[in-house]
Amino acid sequence: MNARPHLIARVRAEFARSEQDKSCHFFPLPDGGELPAMLYAYCGFGIVPGQAEALDGPAGMPCLRCLMAAALSDSSV
Ligand SMILES: [Zn+2]
Repeated sequence: MNARPHLIARVRAEFARSEQDKSCHFFPLPDGGELPAMLYAYCGFGIVPGQAEALDGPAGMPCLRCLMAAALSDSSV
């Protein structure tokens, strides 16, 4: 109830083109729980939900900008 829910996801391997695609990004979840057509990570990276895989935790290379933004939003309670 206090920590803002966010989703950790990355572009699925078959869609990943760049290093940023391969990093896992942190996405703030919309309140309604409804997925928009396009999700935007804290760093501004956009991902199509159908091309993303959700992760239980940071895996591989995390996006540093997302990591810092998520850490800041968690600790600001
Ligand atoms: Zn990111």
